[in-house]
Amino acid sequence: MAKRPYIVGNWKMHGTRSMLSEARAIDRAAERLMKAEVALAPPFTLLHAARKEADLIGIGAQDCHAAEGGAHTGDISAAMIRDAGAGFVILGHSERRADHGESDADIQAKAQAALAAGLNIIVCVGETEQERDAGKAEEIVTDQLVGSLPPCAESGEKVTVAYEPVWAIGTGRTPTVEDIAAMHGTIRGKLAEIYGDAAEEIRILYGGSVKPDNAAELLAVADVGGALVGGASLTADSFLGIVVAA
Ligand code: PEP
Repeated sequence: MAKRPYIVGNWKMHGTRSMLSEARAIDRAAERLMKAEVALAPPFTLLHAARKEADLIGIGAQDCHAAEGGAHTGDISAAMIRDAGAGFVILGHSERRADHGESDADIQAKAQAALAAGLNIIVCVGETEQERDAGKAEEIVTDQLVGSLPPCAESGEKVTVAYEPVWAIGTGRTPTVEDIAAMHGTIRGKLAEIYGDAAEEIRILYGGSVKPDNAAELLAVADVGGALVGGASLTADSFLGIVVAA
């Protein structure tokens, strides 16, 4: 379980070619910062170019379609993402669940398609503020895990889980370290139920308002295997501040 922390930047719908200089700067620094495994998920339009700019860091997408191909205007298959040079895909981000009505079953189908295409997956789970206030956070998150993760994975190495409380994303608010530790412990237990021994290899990232100034504290929490970073991944300076803290 003593793996390098995994720090993943999610650029969301940000980034034109001019932003590739940030990817290049992150990649150059990664050479010196090999204590962490670093990756970026730019928009689809930059995947191929980002892969060419960056030799060392991982490059991944933010979603894929569950089908191999076909009449799905505007969608992108896992094989296309692989062909663009990416190595992983983020699935089930709360913005996809909310904006596109993605269900756990949709996410599970995408996860299976991504693994079949040779991509690693980062599956996001997390409760809303209302669900937390109602004392349902653990139930919601474990239901999402069971519903969204592929039922079998040939290796836990290919699967990462990101715990992202919806109310912490982009708000500057974070759970207490005690709450993060409790949820990561719950997730670890559920992963062991689903995958048995293979669960040991699965990293559980924390995501939600991770910044250079809180990263060290959040990344030191038990069973936090890294961070999924939104806003603070958009410039090399702030993203590398988090990488250094890891
Ligand atoms: C995210 O959207 O995955 C995220 C964690 O965003 P932020 O870091 O901006 O809260």
